Amino acid sequence: SSLFGSFPAAAEDAVFAVTRRFNECPLPGKVSCGVGAYRDSQGRPFVLPSVASARAALAALPAGGWTHEYQPIGGPPAFAEAAQGLAFGPLLAGLAPRLGSVQSLSGTGALHLAVSLYAKFSPVGKVLFSDPTWGNHEAMFEAAGLEASTYRYLDPATPTTPSLDFAGLKEDLLSAPEGALVLLQACAHNPTGVDPSPEQWREIAAVCEERKLVPLLDNAYQGFASGCVETDAFAVRLFAERKIPCFVACSFAKNMGLYGERVGVLHVVAEDGEARDNAVSQLKIVARTTYSNPPSFGGRIVEGVLGDAGRREQWEEDLRGMAGRIVQMRERLRDGLERETGSSWKHITDQIGMFSYTGLTKEQVKACEEKGVFMLASGRVSMAGLNDANVDATAKVMADAIK
Ligand code: PMP
Repeated sequence: SSLFGSFPAAAEDAVFAVTRRFNECPLPGKVSCGVGAYRDSQGRPFVLPSVASARAALAALPAGGWTHEYQPIGGPPAFAEAAQGLAFGPLLAGLAPRLGSVQSLSGTGALHLAVSLYAKFSPVGKVLFSDPTWGNHEAMFEAAGLEASTYRYLDPATPTTPSLDFAGLKEDLLSAPEGALVLLQACAHNPTGVDPSPEQWREIAAVCEERKLVPLLDNAYQGFASGCVETDAFAVRLFAERKIPCFVACSFAKNMGLYGERVGVLHVVAEDGEARDNAVSQLKIVARTTYSNPPSFGGRIVEGVLGDAGRREQWEEDLRGMAGRIVQMRERLRDGLERETGSSWKHITDQIGMFSYTGLTKEQVKACEEKGVFMLASGRVSMAGLNDANVDATAKVMADAIK
């Protein structure tokens, strides 16, 4: 048999598979709530006005003002500084002497850098993540050869109205091995939309400190969740303020709508300057041996938005607009479901961010898909796929599926 033929075939990615089935579906009025990409109220992809302005400014540069040269391995310093300011805000001045940042291929690339560094050098080699979590987390840990286990996240007593099992979460973190990596989603937990409260975050940080865990904060939705970048930075800044050495993996996919440009950053909050320098030098080795250096276009846009007062203001308005539309759709979906089923769907409006964990079973999800409403098998609905024209029909399809 042939060489390549002897390689086992891998399963199709579950999220991309839903998009494929949606594209193949012939039903008029079909609804795409699989992939997590923002859509405007007409269901179209959205270029943020702040981003369009930064793009236009780049295009208007004179010849030679915008070239396509290689970037430094860790990305340009101006990009790193802008990204640091966004993540750490007023803490930045105090943090700067022990903070290091490496530009990455979006949030996934930032996670890859952190996981690779940890896998290469940690003598512990163990990682904990929430059950459930974003599907790619577990796959990345496995690829890095880490011993992975889960911590409890959702209350098993209330499967149809998902809420946080904080006691279970805390107990599992308390019994985690010292030095283990712990993946924590900084805000807008994917896939559940269920976040710890500020008080619960303080307890989580205290446990991480006490058990000497290594937090990897996945910060994929800053500003997109609440509409305010400061509010959504609460957990990240809490860990930094408590001087807990940690990784912060940031993405500009959602909050700037730069999905396909692959722009993100990994911050390392280290014990001191020397520890920071060691970590960054090794992260650059990981970068150099996987993709050499990051793409420049997306980073230029981010610099152009964060570094210009007018665009930054526009961006915050753009964020409020996106987050506000999502909140509106949560209310509309909840209303529709309550009208159709006669029971409470409060969890839909309690949840935050791009996704809602509806509590639908696999079979119910399948029944929805047969009527043209596409979501993940876990019952995760991307709220961005809903709009005025399809939300009531979606509620009806979901309600029929659970009857
Ligand atoms: N983490 C989480 C929790 C996510 O939901 C996503 C996007 N689905 C990412 C990381 C990474 O996305 P990207 O690589 O496109 O920035």
